[in-house]
Amino acid sequence: MTDSVAVVGGGAVGVTAARALADRGADVTLFERGAIAAASTGRAAGICYDAFAGRIDAAVAARAMAHFRDLAAETRFSLVERPYVWLAREGDEARAEAIREQVPRMRERGRAVELLDPVALAAEFPALRTDDVAVAAVARDAGCADPAEYAAAVAERAREAGATIRTETEVALTDGPAVVTPDGTVEFDAVLVAAGAHTRPLLAEAGVAVPIKAYRVQALVTEPIPASERVPTLYDATEQFYWRARDGGLLVGDGVEKRDFDPEDWDRTADEAFLDSAVERADAALATGEPRPAAVERSWAGLCTATPDRDPLLGEIEPDRFVAAGWHGHGFMRAPALGRTIAGEILGDDGIEEFDPTRFDGDEQFPVVEGMTVE
Ligand SMILES: Cc1cc2nc3c(=O)[nH]c(=O)nc-3n(C[C@H](O)[C@H](O)[C@H](O)COP(=O)(O)OP(=O)(O)OC[C@H]3O[C@@H](n4cnc5c(N)ncnc54)[C@H](O)[C@@H]3O)c2cc1C
Repeated sequence: MTDSVAVVGGGAVGVTAARALADRGADVTLFERGAIAAASTGRAAGICYDAFAGRIDAAVAARAMAHFRDLAAETRFSLVERPYVWLAREGDEARAEAIREQVPRMRERGRAVELLDPVALAAEFPALRTDDVAVAAVARDAGCADPAEYAAAVAERAREAGATIRTETEVALTDGPAVVTPDGTVEFDAVLVAAGAHTRPLLAEAGVAVPIKAYRVQALVTEPIPASERVPTLYDATEQFYWRARDGGLLVGDGVEKRDFDPEDWDRTADEAFLDSAVERADAALATGEPRPAAVERSWAGLCTATPDRDPLLGEIEPDRFVAAGWHGHGFMRAPALGRTIAGEILGDDGIEEFDPTRFDGDEQFPVVEGMTVE
C-alpha cells in the first residue's frame, strides 16, 4: 500500500498532486528547492481554456476548468472568466483551414467553441482589428488567473490536509523511491518528480532517461490601455503571439526559442528583439482608433517543457517512481486535472495510457513544437 509519498517540485502540478494525495489520506512531503511557484508556474501567463480537439485533451481541460472554478469558490484564488479567441489572417490559408477543421472536432467533444467570421468577430470584440482576418474561433469556457496565486492557494489547502511542504529544500534522487535531502536520504513508498524543466536532469542523475527538452519563451506586460478589459484572450496563429488582459495592460507572449536549454543556465530577461516585435504585433492586432500601448512595464523569460509526441509524461516511469512533466506551454491550465490524475495513479487508480512515460526509450531526438501551434 502507498502511504508515504515525496513530491519533488512546488509548481502548479506538484502542489495539486500533493493536495490530492493528502486529501486521500497519504502522508505527503513536498520538496521545493526555492519558493512555491518559483519556476515556470510563477512566470506563466495564466491563460486557461478547454479548446482542445483530442478526446483526452478535451476531457482533461474541461475537468481542469471545473476544478479552477471550485478552487475560486473555496479560496481567495480568482479565475476571471474571459473568452479565448484564436485566428488566422488572410494569406495564411493553411492555418485558416486548420482552424476551420479543428472547431467541429472540438464541438463533437462537447466544447463550447464556435467559428466566427470577421463580421461576427468585429461585432463581439470591437477592439480587435478584423479587416484582414480569414477565420477566427472563440472558446467560451476560458479564463485567466494568477498562476502563483493558484499554487499558493493549493499549497495552503495541501498543508491543511496534512501535507508537509518544505520550501528552500533542494533534493536529489537515488535508487528506488527515496530522496536525498540536505539532512540525509529519506525513504518513501513512492516519489513523484514534478520538477518542470529540471525533471530530465534530476531523473538522469538517478539513471532514468526521459525525452524532455526545456525551451525558452518570453512575455511582457504593457502599460495600461483602455482596450485591456474589452479584448478577449487572443492567439494570433499567423503572427504567432498571444495576449491576455493583465494589470490594465496586455500581457503579450511569444519569443519562443525552440532549442534545449540547461535549466541552470539561461537568460531570464526578455530580448530587445522580442520586446520590439511583440509590441508591434500587438499594436497591429488592435482596431484602428484604439489607443496603443506606448511602453512595456515589465518583461521576462521562462522555460517550458517539450516531448517527442507533444503529450506529457505522466505516470510510473520506474517501480514506485512517478513523473509529471512535458506540458508544451499548457501545464498551468491542465494542472488542476493532471495533478489529481497522477495523485490517483500513485494511489492505485488507472492513469492515462496515452501519457504513460514508458512509451519512450528516453534517448529520442526530436524537434520542439510550441504548444499553441495551429497546423
Ligand atoms: C512565459 C510563460 C507563459 C506561460 N503561459 C502559460 C499559460 O498561459 N497557460 C498555461 O497553461 N501554461 C503556461 N505556461 C507554462 C506553465 O508555466 C508550465 O507548463 C507550468 O507552470 C508547469 O508547472 P510545473 O509544476 O510542471 O513546473 P514548475 O512550475 O517549473 O515547477 C517545478 C518546480 O520544481 C522545483 N524543483 C526543480 N528541481 C528541484 C529539486 N531538485 N528539488 C526540489 N525542487 C525542485 C522548481 O524550483 C520548480 O518550482 C507558460 C510558461 C511561461 C514560461
